[in-house]
Amino acid sequence: MNTHVNDPAALIEADRAHVWHHLVQHKPFETIDPQIIVEGKGMRVWDLNGKEHLDAVSGGVWTVNVGYGRTEIADAVRDQLVKMCYFAGAKGTIPGATFAERLIGKMPGLDRVYYANSGSEANEKAFKMVRQISAKHYGGKKSKILYRDRDYHGTTIACLSAGGQKERNVQYGPFAPGFIEVPHCLEYQSTDRGEGYAERAVKAIEDVILREGADEIGALCLEPITAGGGIIVPPKGYWEGVQELCKKYDILLHIDEVVCGLGRTGTWFGYQQFGVQPDIVTMAKGVASGYAAISCCVTTNRVFDMFKDDTDKLGYFRDISTFGGCTAGPTAALVNMEIIENEKLCENSTKMGERFQNNLLELMDKHKCIGEVRGMGLFQGAELVLDRETREPMDEKRVMGVVADCLQQGVIIGASNRSMPGFNNTLLFAPALIATESDVDEITAAVDAALTRVMA
Ligand code: PMP
Repeated sequence: MNTHVNDPAALIEADRAHVWHHLVQHKPFETIDPQIIVEGKGMRVWDLNGKEHLDAVSGGVWTVNVGYGRTEIADAVRDQLVKMCYFAGAKGTIPGATFAERLIGKMPGLDRVYYANSGSEANEKAFKMVRQISAKHYGGKKSKILYRDRDYHGTTIACLSAGGQKERNVQYGPFAPGFIEVPHCLEYQSTDRGEGYAERAVKAIEDVILREGADEIGALCLEPITAGGGIIVPPKGYWEGVQELCKKYDILLHIDEVVCGLGRTGTWFGYQQFGVQPDIVTMAKGVASGYAAISCCVTTNRVFDMFKDDTDKLGYFRDISTFGGCTAGPTAALVNMEIIENEKLCENSTKMGERFQNNLLELMDKHKCIGEVRGMGLFQGAELVLDRETREPMDEKRVMGVVADCLQQGVIIGASNRSMPGFNNTLLFAPALIATESDVDEITAAVDAALTRVMA
């Protein structure tokens, strides 16, 4: 492969001149160099200048669950690509069938795997299923899809229409109709954390169902733990209430596991922390830890069977993703799953997550600007505030200053999007599930030093 690998200046120029990076303003790149990541091993990555970083965000957006440099994944993908790289449509492949069976083995009560390539796309599949069920089985009723404030489901117009982080939507409308927002439990958390708080949060969803009419609502789509919206862990009793609502009003429960899936919170899937039984589960990032592009929309047979009417020419799911037939995805996913299993990474996520959360809680004594620490497993957030009582958010400049200071120290951390434009006040941590005690302690030390400097 012919690249500029021996000519860093040419590589930076190629990037500066031709790459349109994700989610970033490019004007500063006119004067500062884009950072290029060259190599990774385990929890660490090295940039073009040879600087080493401890990656506390698994590749920026919480994807590389099993860490970098996994030759066993690369070898399996290489062998499979040489043997049979791709076939799509009605025909299957060996890795496609094998991974589907293994995945379903981790998801009791679910039956079918529909392959796609990104989290957004998996969610689009789910939305289309709900709409087709509405058209075919409910005469057009039950077509509305509920989503929650602060949740995120992807970047396409339909996914943004179901997006609760409204600043992401600005300037991208008009949006798709039929997506209805329900409030988040955090709205209650901030004013009242007393008894009945979970019940009130559930009641707020029920109020929307009653307002819109249960016979108009086909699905409720939620993240198990709101991820990019600020790592919001629902209170005890919340998920049981949500499940009850879905049963009571015959609403499909669609859980978006794009972030929480594959061990991130300490169980295979985030919903398994709460004992709920979804009808549809979507997943992406950790499915193959970024070694290949793959996402899945997993359903029960109850959902699947609604598409099996062969007396109706339109009675099947008329959808395809061209690259859903690429075998690199399920092959990487299979080995990725074996690694999580063999190395007990769910257990490690729980154990290291507890240690890391305790570390962050200890930092609260020293740094009054930490308003709250939230998370589960190796998915943790520290909300930065101006005042712990009122929870008035820390200004974005200082929050991003902490992120930048950590980067200077060689530790890559992230920050959340909040639903109000300009707010970005929760530090986010999602290190690979292989993190050790010394890794989480190192991340904590960097945050401690950064907070001391930036808040001074
Ligand atoms: N759902 C959630 C919860 C996400 O966090 C994301 C991406 N951050 C998506 C869906 C969209 O996934 P993708 O970027 O792969 O389309």
